[in-house]
Amino acid sequence: MTRGTRNALRPCPACGEGRLEPRQTTQRAEHAGLSEAIPLHYAVCDTCGSELAEAPEAKANKRAMTAFRKRADGLLTGAQMRQARKALGLTQAQAAKLFGGGQVAFSRYENDDITQSEAMDSLVRVCLAQPANLTLLADQKGVSAIFTTDDNWANALVRRHILGIKSALEHQIAPDRVAEPSPQDPLKRHAKVIDIQRWRKAAA
Ligand SMILES: [Zn+2]
Repeated sequence: MTRGTRNALRPCPACGEGRLEPRQTTQRAEHAGLSEAIPLHYAVCDTCGSELAEAPEAKANKRAMTAFRKRADGLLTGAQMRQARKALGLTQAQAAKLFGGGQVAFSRYENDDITQSEAMDSLVRVCLAQPANLTLLADQKGVSAIFTTDDNWANALVRRHILGIKSALEHQIAPDRVAEPSPQDPLKRHAKVIDIQRWRKAAA
C-alpha cells in the first residue's frame, strides 16, 4: 500500500497509530425461511490488529441485511427497485411524485436504507407489468399529459405514455428547467422497451 493510499484510510481509534483497512467476509443470515451468506464489512488496524466496525461498516452491513430481508420477504431489492424505476424512465424525484413516499424515498429504497411497503412494491410492479397504469397515477396526481390511444402497437403506446408523463412531470417539478425533448436515438428507445418487457416478465 502506498503512503498516499494509507493516509486516505481512517486512523485506528484503538491504538491511535495504525490505519483501518477495509475487509469483507460473509455472515449467514436467516429470515422468513431463507438462509443466505451475506456480506459482512469490517476494518482491521494495520498496526495493532484490532477488528472494528465503525459507522461506514455498520451502514454497509445494515444495507446488506435490509437487501437480504427484502429478498426473503419477496420484495424488490434496492438494486431491483432502481432497475424498475429506470425501466419506467423515471428519475427518483419523478417516481416519488407519482408513487408517493416522500422526496427522498426512492434514494432510500434503492440504497437499501429502508424497506418499501408492500403497497409501494406492488404499485411499482403493477406499473412495470402494465405501464399504462402510469397514466392513471399521473391523472390522479394532477400531472396532465396528453395521450393518443389510437396506436395499437403496445410498445409504441408504452413509450408514448412514459415520455408524456415524464415531460409533464418535468414541468411540475422544475418548470423553469424544462428542456425541449431531444430527438431520441431509435436504438436507445428500443433498449428501453426491451427493459420494460424484461421487467414485465420479472414482475409477473
Ligand atoms: Zn490500531
